[in-house]
Amino acid sequence: MIIVLRPHATPEQIEEVIKEVGILGYEPRPIHGAHQTVIAAIGDETTHHTLESLNVLPQVEGVLRVQKRFKLVSRESHPEDSVIDVDGVKIGGSQFVAMAGPCSVESEEQLLSTARAVKAAGASILRGGAYKPRTSPYEFQGLGREGLRLLDLARRETGLKIITEVLSERDVEHVAAATDILQIGARNAQNFRLLTEAARTGKAILLKRGMSERIEEWLLAAEYILAEGNSNVLFCERGIRTFETYTRNTLDLSAVAIAKKESHLPVIVDPSQGCGRADLVCALCRGAVAMGADGIIVEVHPNPAEAMSDGQQQVDFAGFDALMRDLDPLLAAVGRTR
Ligand code: PEP
Ligand code: MN
Repeated sequence: MIIVLRPHATPEQIEEVIKEVGILGYEPRPIHGAHQTVIAAIGDETTHHTLESLNVLPQVEGVLRVQKRFKLVSRESHPEDSVIDVDGVKIGGSQFVAMAGPCSVESEEQLLSTARAVKAAGASILRGGAYKPRTSPYEFQGLGREGLRLLDLARRETGLKIITEVLSERDVEHVAAATDILQIGARNAQNFRLLTEAARTGKAILLKRGMSERIEEWLLAAEYILAEGNSNVLFCERGIRTFETYTRNTLDLSAVAIAKKESHLPVIVDPSQGCGRADLVCALCRGAVAMGADGIIVEVHPNPAEAMSDGQQQVDFAGFDALMRDLDPLLAAVGRTR
């Protein structure tokens, strides 16, 4: 880290900072400029106190970080793209993965018909929430264990892999037993105890970006999972809260490009939560392909008008099939297959 001192810091004040840097476990290397002194602090931030506390001293103008705060997640630690193998489905390689299914698992008929339709259209992973994080406690909260049972049934029948959300630490064990990928939702994006528990299952984890989460915080949330020894992480950009009201959220495609640049982990785009409008889902999927995303997760329902959650943003079977076809020329243009 670099400590920048104020221009009028006295020699005694400079000496005080040099001493503090040593006390905090770093080797201080002062550089005296014509107007200002800076002190380079040499040491490993992961094992030492961070030096940000020095900001409190009146002679300190600022403390600058040289290294990134995320380590295992960063491309520096792993220059090649990571490919996550979800029981034979490879995510992050040349193949573009499509995850699709209803927002919520509602019934056997609803889930199985959707599973068959999305498989026929080219999806390899079935999504469906059994535990739903709803804004109001009076709204449908999901079928819970029955939902997991239906997802398992759909897996057996279609061979699709399963992704479903885990809402609470208490549910990690039984949700992990029933799914191939654990989804951590936007509302739990920085629930670090949940991230740690989910990581310990060894399952692949799709980590949504929180609705007001900075990209660095998102990368650091993933670092919690990797630090637990589980590197099977998929980032998921699902839109952030902005002032815009045309859309439910503002899909931040720049976050996709940044996550791909900063990290070796795959990035998935969720256009459904991303805009909250079925009519825009296809356009956002095109954007996702162009931005270098490794896949999409799309909400699909047999009859969106009757959906028990997020009806306004779910596409029907024909809509999903058309969307997948629409992506083919774009995928070819960026050198990917599906
Ligand atoms: C969902 O996928 O249905 C969902 C609730 O997503 P998010 O956590 O991104 O809001
Ligand atoms: Mn939803």
